[in-house]
Amino acid sequence: MVTYFQIVLFIVLVVIAAVIAYRGYYRVYKNIKLGKAEDLTDQPAVRLKNMLLVAFGQKKMFKYLTPAILHLMIYVGFVITQIELIEIFIDGFTGHHRIIYHAVENHPALLAIYVFAISFIEFLSIFVFVATVAFLTRRWIIKVPRLNMAEMIGWPKADATIILVAEIYLLTCIFSMNTADMAMHNGQYRFLISGMLMPIFDGWSYTAMHVVERLGWWGHMVGVLAFICYLPYSKHLHILLAFPNTYFAHLEPKGYIANMPAITKEIKLMMNPEAAPAVSDQAEEPVKFGAKDVFDLSWKNLLDAYACTECGRCTDNCPANMTGKKLSPRKVMMDTRDRLEEVGKKMAANNGIWQEDGKSLIGDDYITTEELRACTTCNACVEQCPVMISPLDIIIQLRRNLIMEESNAPAEWMGMFSNMENNGAPWQFGQQERLNWTKE
Ligand code: SF4
Ligand code: SF4
Repeated sequence: MVTYFQIVLFIVLVVIAAVIAYRGYYRVYKNIKLGKAEDLTDQPAVRLKNMLLVAFGQKKMFKYLTPAILHLMIYVGFVITQIELIEIFIDGFTGHHRIIYHAVENHPALLAIYVFAISFIEFLSIFVFVATVAFLTRRWIIKVPRLNMAEMIGWPKADATIILVAEIYLLTCIFSMNTADMAMHNGQYRFLISGMLMPIFDGWSYTAMHVVERLGWWGHMVGVLAFICYLPYSKHLHILLAFPNTYFAHLEPKGYIANMPAITKEIKLMMNPEAAPAVSDQAEEPVKFGAKDVFDLSWKNLLDAYACTECGRCTDNCPANMTGKKLSPRKVMMDTRDRLEEVGKKMAANNGIWQEDGKSLIGDDYITTEELRACTTCNACVEQCPVMISPLDIIIQLRRNLIMEESNAPAEWMGMFSNMENNGAPWQFGQQERLNWTKE
């Protein structure tokens, strides 16, 4: 029987969710576009392979076995359970109930496939449930250190918890819907897990079971729509952004540090002054070294910030962090995203025009000089990241700005820089004096 009320309410909810979700995802897209242009479209085959292995295949997750297995359970369960969602959405739009079931109920082979598919989803859902409880336990009871560092206090921890609790809520909806539905139909068909739960409804009236089934159905559908709307405000956006982020990852070997074109040009001219172009009447645009704010970073740096899962593997393996320095590469990514969000909000409130707000990515509000100076450029964070993010790329650009634009470096570094410039080496001796020590 077609339920017109269901169709109308379903369409209204989907339209509301689509409008909210569009605003959230478009906001993220516009913010990423604030970054500088960077062409990362070369070697498409290598990029595709990276995306399939790292984002789809979760390859880099397996450096930490326990969370990798738990994450895989949730990931596979999440993907496969969407199959049942297809039927829920078709039912919602058509006003039917279990439209696929009714289409196959008189074909034993097709019915068996249908029952097997839902049973398999339920089977995986149990793993999802176990993994979700384990993740909550690690966060709240065992208090795994990397999940409880300073930058994780407040919203980041709440965000992670909201999603885990939402996962349990969705599973509860699915199981109550399936179990009540089977009990209402006197077990005409039986799914694997909900079939075992059916005795819960022994002695219940048909109406009471119908209420539970409907609550499960609507609860699941509203939960999924809310999840889609919530995603652009959460670190769980990595579910989607891990794919483009791994595809557009830098392909150079780790340890490669891009030169600054303006400096390269200067050095070349120093080595070959005759190659200097004739003086032009047109004033050249002043060169800005490094990055001070999010506008100076590339769109890929900004995509990295939104794709960060806040897992903390980078920080856990950062030698600076391990030895008690303030630097946390995870915090660098979170600060970049937070500053980008702040800039995006201020621009949205000012008709898309940016007005200086006296802040920048470098400073006490976000990434401090002390943090930037602590980096050893070892690349451990880049190596560890499960979604191919490079916190180091951002650190280097911010540090270049500090040093080359602000001359903000410890006296020892400044001495070393001028020695490099004058003597071609970090020491204070001229090249002709370099071997003097051998004379004694
Ligand atoms: S490159 Fe810097 S931030 Fe990354 S792990 Fe090494 S020291 Fe830490
Ligand atoms: S940068 Fe990578 S390793 Fe570090 S917290 Fe984010 S996702 Fe995890």
